[in-house]
Amino acid sequence: MPDILMTREELNFRREFREFVNKEIVPLGLAEKQERDEIDFPTELVRILGQKGYFGMCLPEKYGGKNRELVYEVIKSEELAYVGPALSCPGCSTGWVGNAICEYGTEKQKQDYVIPIAQGLKVAAIAMTEPGAGSDINSYKTKAVLDKDFYTISGEKRFQVGGLGADFFLTFAITDSSRPALKGGLSAFLIDREMGIEVVEKFKMMGYHGAGVSHSIMKNIKVPEDNILGKEGDGMGVLDTILIWERLSTAAGAFGGARRCIDEAIKYSLEREAFGVTLSRIPTVYNMVADMIIKRDVIATMIIRGCRLVDKYGPKAMKEVAEAKYLAGEMGYEIADTALQVLGGIGYTNKYPIESYVRFVRLGRIASGTSEIMQYIVQRDTYKEVLGRKEG
Ligand SMILES: Cc1cc2nc3c(=O)[nH]c(=O)nc-3n(C[C@H](O)[C@H](O)[C@H](O)COP(=O)(O)OP(=O)(O)OC[C@H]3O[C@@H](n4cnc5c(N)ncnc54)[C@H](O)[C@@H]3O)c2cc1C
Repeated sequence: MPDILMTREELNFRREFREFVNKEIVPLGLAEKQERDEIDFPTELVRILGQKGYFGMCLPEKYGGKNRELVYEVIKSEELAYVGPALSCPGCSTGWVGNAICEYGTEKQKQDYVIPIAQGLKVAAIAMTEPGAGSDINSYKTKAVLDKDFYTISGEKRFQVGGLGADFFLTFAITDSSRPALKGGLSAFLIDREMGIEVVEKFKMMGYHGAGVSHSIMKNIKVPEDNILGKEGDGMGVLDTILIWERLSTAAGAFGGARRCIDEAIKYSLEREAFGVTLSRIPTVYNMVADMIIKRDVIATMIIRGCRLVDKYGPKAMKEVAEAKYLAGEMGYEIADTALQVLGGIGYTNKYPIESYVRFVRLGRIASGTSEIMQYIVQRDTYKEVLGRKEG
């Protein structure tokens, strides 16, 4: 059936971007190099996406972007994930930071950061999570203290996608310890690498190799006062602006990976024979395929709905975004696991890409907020709505 969820323009963009990826990205062999640990970050991907204008899809034209709807960003993430497990986030996350700078930044910050971001000349990483606090933002320990024209920042952050290749870090730090981070205690900073941030690769990841995931340490580094993004206390607003794009894009990445697994499984089921017929003719197997397709279509619908609502209502659509992210993480992983099962033993080897996608898609249940935090947001906003109706 034709895809009625997207406009003709959006479908044309998908076709165009898919062709571009197959013609110009796949032949670079980045996914294979990442899987063999030959590169720690796909810098070439960022440069090419920037040259072709794909980094600024949803950024304002004034800063080199194309001012398109969020669904364009999501298509990009999905298509990149389809060809390589660790390509989608490195190919998108810098754009999310650009969007936050457009919302909260000064004109100078937009000139200094957003224009190079749109051109693929500056790579950004997002440094929220700390060793002692991920989901629990109120327990962040990184501190920023203003003294004359500089903030002195100390703390440790972990798990920044793209950190190994980043030119700057959007870093969150406490500026007012008398208030909870969620209620005005947190601020956001644009920290250039040469300001003294120490970036290391501390952990070997289960999957997602070559996505540049880093650990960063700040020991009394001096950051100019002008590098605060927004005002002191705006950290949660900046974070929400980032997370709304990041969650939909992460959902789309998991979805792109799951789609690739389905296609691999269907192809295999048409070739492999057992008991005198192809696997595709064995009821248990074709039910597995049906199950994957139904889940695929549910995820696609939820992601598009999330995009449309965010375009219209911004961060107020956090609940619907959380629903899409939850479903993409949970069902995406179920799809990848089922696809591997269709291939049997050979699915568990690296002859087919499914095993690397299983490791990648598993991340969809953790990154950008865990599935449990997504459930928390859904119930919180549902009760707010119900109680609000009663009181109103
Ligand atoms: C490969 C990778 C890439 C990442 N990229 C980035 C990045 O670019 N930038 C960045 O800042 N971070 C990044 N992260 C960090 C990621 O967002 C966090 O790991 C995630 O938010 C969970 O935080 P945590 O690991 O501290 O787990 P914790 O918060 O310690 O949670 C542990 C477990 O407890 C559950 N839990 C905790 N609190 C609650 C609660 N209130 N209700 C229910 N369950 C709860 C969680 O759901 C989870 O199951 C990345 C992580 C990975 C693995």
